[in-house]
Amino acid sequence: MKDYRLVGGGQATTALAALSRLGLKTAYLGVVGDDPGGKLVLSGLKEFGVDVSSVVVEEGGETPVALIFVDETAHTRTIAYQPTAPGRLSLSSVDPEFVLSGRCLLVDPHETLFGLEIAPAAKERSIPLIYDAEHMTDGFEEMLAAADYVVGSEDVVSTLNASCVEAALETILDAGPKAAVITLGSEGAIALTRRGLFRRPAFRVRVIDTPAAGDAFHAGFAYAVLRGWDMERTLDFANALGALVCRGLGGRETLPDLKEVLDLVAAGTTVPTSEEKLFNRKGEKR
Ligand code: ADP
Repeated sequence: MKDYRLVGGGQATTALAALSRLGLKTAYLGVVGDDPGGKLVLSGLKEFGVDVSSVVVEEGGETPVALIFVDETAHTRTIAYQPTAPGRLSLSSVDPEFVLSGRCLLVDPHETLFGLEIAPAAKERSIPLIYDAEHMTDGFEEMLAAADYVVGSEDVVSTLNASCVEAALETILDAGPKAAVITLGSEGAIALTRRGLFRRPAFRVRVIDTPAAGDAFHAGFAYAVLRGWDMERTLDFANALGALVCRGLGGRETLPDLKEVLDLVAAGTTVPTSEEKLFNRKGEKR
């Protein structure tokens, strides 16, 4: 083994670290165990200035752990995941007013059911809710309808049993959100809104490790939603943030500041996309 990192991971948590690095005020709500994994998650977030004061620390709970092996030569990653799960959030375990004090809510799959609980109140207060549709989970389909923005990786094509990327986007948009977005790794990202289809290429960087790319993309997307940017600018910003975290191991130490992201977007050095690959795909994984 050439090198290793011990870092707090997780979808919403990594996205929050990224948003803090961009200069936004962030808070994480979730459940961790009182084990070393839980402590690592909390200390990692505190380092970035994420407010963890409302995190539920479950006595005897086991925080999930993933071992990620990155082969720099073969450009592969192998993930060994210990799927323990401490409890889930519920409206009785948190102060709903604290949740609703945010200007934007990012819900990851682990907290789909809590997202569904809080969604009606968020809608009432016009707080945009972004759903990270990473994988099928209880409440997944209801959440497609409850969210304002649904952002998933290419895996969502098979999760929805769709024939291709566009079909998956249509299924999601039909459920009700304002926009359906699918990230396509080094092919960038594609979005469908009621104004049409938007596709933007990825930015060229020296890629070392990609597991945090999707989480960083979500952070970039949330940042753009808060700024009220149009979809092209939103995808460019999120693609740039997604690319920049791929420059090092673990994702956290390469999280860029705002200037780095804007500079990469302005430089416009993108990876050529393959039309054929995207449009002839029938839902198979690359
Ligand atoms: P996930 O990490 O959830 O599987 P993706 O692999 O689709 O998600 O990556 C999310 C985003 O990160 C992409 O849409 C793209 O913007 C960026 N990204 C991922 N891999 C690369 C890469 N090799 N080069 C440049 N950008 C990348």
